[in-house]
This record gives sequence, C-alpha cells and structure tokens, in this order.
Amino acid sequence: MDRITGNGVNTMTQSDELFERSKKRIPGGVNSPVRAYQAVGRNSVFIKKAKGSHIFDEDGNEYIDYVCSWGPGILGHADEEVIKEVQKACQDGLTFGAPTRKECEIAELIAQMMPSMEMTRMVSSGTEAVMSAIRVARGFTGKDYIVKFRGCYHGHSDGLLVKAGSGVLMQAVPDSAGVPSGYTQYTLIAEYNNCDSVAKLFEKYKGKIAAIVVEPVAANMGVVPPKEGFLEYLRKITKENDALLIFDEVITGFRLAPGGAQQFFRVTPDLRTLGNVYQAGTLSGNPIAMTAGLVTLKRLFEHPEIYTQIEQTTKTLADAYRNAFKDQVCVNQIGSLMSVFFTKEKVVDFASGQTADRKKYADYFWYFLERGIHLAPSQFEAMFVSVAHHKEDVEKTIQVINQYAASQKR
Ligand code: PMP
Repeated sequence: MDRITGNGVNTMTQSDELFERSKKRIPGGVNSPVRAYQAVGRNSVFIKKAKGSHIFDEDGNEYIDYVCSWGPGILGHADEEVIKEVQKACQDGLTFGAPTRKECEIAELIAQMMPSMEMTRMVSSGTEAVMSAIRVARGFTGKDYIVKFRGCYHGHSDGLLVKAGSGVLMQAVPDSAGVPSGYTQYTLIAEYNNCDSVAKLFEKYKGKIAAIVVEPVAANMGVVPPKEGFLEYLRKITKENDALLIFDEVITGFRLAPGGAQQFFRVTPDLRTLGNVYQAGTLSGNPIAMTAGLVTLKRLFEHPEIYTQIEQTTKTLADAYRNAFKDQVCVNQIGSLMSVFFTKEKVVDFASGQTADRKKYADYFWYFLERGIHLAPSQFEAMFVSVAHHKEDVEKTIQVINQYAASQKR
C-alpha cells in the first residue's frame, strides 16, 4: 500500500478514495460496522475480487484471506462449480416469489446432513433466522423470556441488540440508540460457560422462559469453545423447564462438521418446530441463493474429508502461533475456527477475552495486511480457513507469524 511516493508526497490509495466517497453516501462508509476498521484505527481496504484463498483490493494488492466472508466460504472464493451453476440459474430468472424445486431439494439435503432439522424455512440473513427461531420458541411455549449470553451475537434485531444491565441477575438493556427499552425487557443475559448464571435465571424467572439461544462455539467474542458439560447443561435445564434450546449456528453450522455443532458435540437442539407463527420473506429461498447453497452443501456432504483438511490447516496455524508467541498470546482453536487473543490469560469466557490488548491486535493486523495476509479487523472475531488454503498459503502465513513474533521480542 503505497501511501508515500518516491518523492515523499502523500498519495491516496484507491481504497482511501473510495472510503472518502462512501462516507458521504453510506453511514460510516460501510454497510456493516466491522468493515469500517474502527477497531484497528485506519481506513478500510476496499475489495475488488477474490479467488480461492486469495483476495485482491482496489489497489491491486493481493492477500491470503482468513475472513472468508465471516465463515460461509468453506470452499474458498469463486469456486468454479458454484459460479457456473449460479450463472446458469441467473439466466432462468433471479427471483420469482414462488416455490421452486431447489428449495425442496436443499431442505431435504439439510435434513439428511443435520438429523434434528426435520423442517427448514429459508431466510436471507442470520438476523432473520434467529428472530424467527425465537418467535417459534415463544409461539410454541407460550412464554415470553429468552436467555442469551454476554458476548454472543445473534444479529441486529431489537430484542437481541442488548447489553447486560446492572445486577447479578441480568436483565438486558438496549445496546443501540433506536431500541426502546420495552423491546429488551424479555431478554435475560447469562455468562457463557457458566452454568450457575443460567440456573439463577431459571430460578428467578421460573415458568417464564421460552428459550435459551446460544452460539454453540462462541465466535463473536473471539473464538471461545464450550467447556465440557456446558451445552449438555443447557440441554438439561431447558428440558426440565419446558423451554427450547436454540443453537445459533450462523457460524458453526456446516463448518464444524457436516451436521454442525450438534454432530460435533452430540447435543441436540430443538430448532425444528416451525409451524404456529407467522414468518415470511419475499426473497427467502430465491433461486440464486438456493443454487449456491445446494452446490456447496452437496460438495460438503459428499466430501467429508474437507473437514479433516480445514481442521488440519487450522491446527497447523494454531501451533505456529503458539510456537512463535509462547505464553504471550492465547490461541483458541476448534475445528476450522480460531482466534489469537493478545493476552497471557486463558480465554474461557467473555471476561477473560476482554483482557486482550486491542492496540496490540491492531498493530498485528496491519503488520499482516501489509505483508499480504487479510485477517479480521477486530480482536473479537474469528479467523476462518477454507479448503482453498493450500500449503504455500500456510507456509507464507507461518513465515509472517515468525517474523512478527521476532519483531516483538526486539
Ligand atoms: N448469529 C451469529 C452467530 C452471527 O455470527 C451473525 C453474524 N455473523 C448473525 C447471527 C447475524 O447474521 P446476519 O449478519 O446475516 O444478519
């Protein structure tokens, strides 16, 4: 990124220029906040295209990409078969607002891959999915309260855009302007990996809790895997209290295993009771999204070795970080999900994650970006790997990890 020319004059990169232009017409210059690079304190990089494990910016810089569109890119960018099938589907019309064969086929395939998902409704975003699942849970149980965990993210719907209020038994308060407090009064907040905090809420709100919603592996506070027995406890306490257990698998689904977290941890959630509530979306299940999904899921289903490969790549990277940084960082890795926390503490929950040094992360982020490696622009996001990440990508990444670690010791 040439910000300074040979004669010492500052020049704007294409990304800088686009960011300036965007800021005039798009709030914050971006369509989703993490892209604004606030956590790493400089201008965003604008992406032009991507192929396989590599992503290219508007200035022609090339990076190994560990964001992978925040998870779904398991096959890597612009997979040839996916693109070919999507192009074919485009020629037949973009959206009909009427049912299609592919919707039926993908629902059948999902039921085969995830045995507890006997029925599927398609939506266009994770926000909608969780919002709808919660409505189903409330409709089914006839109760109003839901329990979520501090640091877990479930999209930007009003009732879930919350932070913890004061006090030990935590009732949520809005985490954004524009969310009236009445909208969050039925949201309760517990601590991830802390069974006791859940038990207390079920005691205090006995008979009133419709569901627990949880990321089976927390990935929006940095990656924090569930402690042994935690998911099993959530299963048990929801059953005992006639509440539902909702796994929000927007990140873990199809990534940890073909059957998602349910297969990985052998804990079965309830998210299969669609029926008594109103739920709709004009673009839901549109043929283009269905084609991309169907081709991707078929490949994952038919090639389970993909999971061994992406896990191995991630483990290799995790080991490289641990070897290079020793006890200066905490590396959490599970399957193909990983986070490097700049803290000497073991990160096992939200509070320990928050001990991470954000300034150090920002420094690390720019060091890597300037050497051709695209990481999440925030300490509290995951690092994602795809099947398209090959040996050379991993070797180059490890080289930069070692260089960076050495530069820190000086
Ligand atoms: N749930 C989880 C676990 C997520 O990570 C996200 C966002 N990545 C969402 C829900 C919201 O999804 P979307 O941004 O598609 O609305």
